[in-house]
Amino acid sequence: MSVLSIIVPCYNEEESIHFFYEAMKELEQDLPGLEMEYLFIDDGSKDKTYEKLSELHERDNRVKCISFSRNFGKEAAIFSGLRAANGDCVVVMDADLQHPPKTIVEMVAKWREGYEVVEGIKTNRGRESVFHKLFANSFYNIMSKLIGVNMNNTSDFKLLDRKVVKILSGLHEKDTFFRALSYWVGFKTTSVHYEVQERVAGTTKWSFTSLLRYAVKNIIAFSYAPLKLISVLGFLILGFGVALGVDAIVSYLRGTAQSGYPTIICMIVLATGGIMLSLGIVGTYIAKIYEQVKDRPQYIIGDRKD
Ligand code: UDP
Ligand code: MG
Repeated sequence: MSVLSIIVPCYNEEESIHFFYEAMKELEQDLPGLEMEYLFIDDGSKDKTYEKLSELHERDNRVKCISFSRNFGKEAAIFSGLRAANGDCVVVMDADLQHPPKTIVEMVAKWREGYEVVEGIKTNRGRESVFHKLFANSFYNIMSKLIGVNMNNTSDFKLLDRKVVKILSGLHEKDTFFRALSYWVGFKTTSVHYEVQERVAGTTKWSFTSLLRYAVKNIIAFSYAPLKLISVLGFLILGFGVALGVDAIVSYLRGTAQSGYPTIICMIVLATGGIMLSLGIVGTYIAKIYEQVKDRPQYIIGDRKD
């Protein structure tokens, strides 16, 4: 019998876990011929998430839990789950039931047809502010261009075959972007659509600054475009400078040279701003290299119950 591993990152989800588990139990009847394995990763929760998970583990030996020594982020939680999973296929989903469990039935059907990656695509974006939507859209448009795949409405809700899980588990990147890496690895890919549900309990953990950090981190992790942009800007400014220089010389020769003080001020401000910004971008990449070279683990496991 094939095994399906369900990977669930949890951060302060004490209220959701019970609902999640009950919903999954109900779903099991619709997944005949599959043995289930549940892998909950407690990402350093400050509430009773791990106690709740341990209770589940006592009741149901298919439930396994990993507890991080502190909060390392959803990406780290997903990757530790991938590394611990034993399933022939794996589904990654949120603990708050925003990813409807019944979609798994469709995903498994696709997997049985021979697909190795089944992406969950959102048909709606759930309840979000206009500002949040605008920000998310611009981010996904940039990422889509960088990766060459339409990333709009993609999510972390997906099914992966054992083969794909093995490849992803072997990556040494510290700054993973699961949502895009599942495209990057290739393999036979298809998608299913689902409607984002309301959170069953608790609140979202995203603030605007954390979203912004997430966007910058993932663009840096997937692209050198910002670095190339610096060279392009450099060339543009150089061209502009040459034109101004020629103009200055011609004016001088004609004896019509202006005093030019405002121009100098503008040029200095523009150039300094440009250089600082460029240094900032280069610095961000250096920081990433530094982090990778230090080779600290992406997460630290404090406790686990297999
Ligand atoms: N999560 C996590 N670590 C974090 C933040 C979130 O493991 O640092 C988990 C969270 O418990 C949930 C999933 O990631 O299962 C999605 O988080 P959330 O619902 O807060 O995000 P949203 O659905 O609003 O994008
Ligand atoms: Mg959520």
